[in-house]
Amino acid sequence: MPNAQCPINNYQLLIFMTWGKLLQPDLVLGDSIVNLTADILEKYQIKGLVLDVDETLVPITAMNASPELSLWVAEIKPLVSLWLASNNLSENRIGRIAESLNLPYITGAAKPSRRKLRKAVTAMNLPVEQVAMVGDRLFTDVLAGNRLGMFTILVEPMINAGDAVRKFPVRSFEVWVSQALGATLKAKD
Ligand SMILES: [Mg+2]
Repeated sequence: MPNAQCPINNYQLLIFMTWGKLLQPDLVLGDSIVNLTADILEKYQIKGLVLDVDETLVPITAMNASPELSLWVAEIKPLVSLWLASNNLSENRIGRIAESLNLPYITGAAKPSRRKLRKAVTAMNLPVEQVAMVGDRLFTDVLAGNRLGMFTILVEPMINAGDAVRKFPVRSFEVWVSQALGATLKAKD
């Protein structure tokens, strides 16, 4: 006899669990991208990185890559294949940042859609599980990467010092929903 007390049935539970898995990053960095080190990449056998741009590499208002980011790219580039994949449509701004880092890029990536992301992974010619999707958002970056079978890394959003007091209502909502669906978002030591 069905339990009248239970608010969801088994089918609904399965759907929740599936979504929880799709929103689960393989690694929560709990820090900015520049702390993604060669040691971490080696530990997880990652040979390629598809990098989100806004608030993963640069604050959303930035027109240029910071010297710190350029240095990180220079250090990591000999070790892994790199692509940028932004949902931002601004060819001008994203293109300029990508070109200053000398990296291939995709604008209007439409994450969590897999279509354009697949282009970057295919270009790397690597097994998909050895390519990490790195981003600050669960419902776009992590969801897209998991849907494609990539390794997924969640980073803390990069913001301007002046915007430090700004809240992230969308990101906070995504974190809340993901955790409610069973995703664990505690940074690993
Ligand atoms: Mg972002």
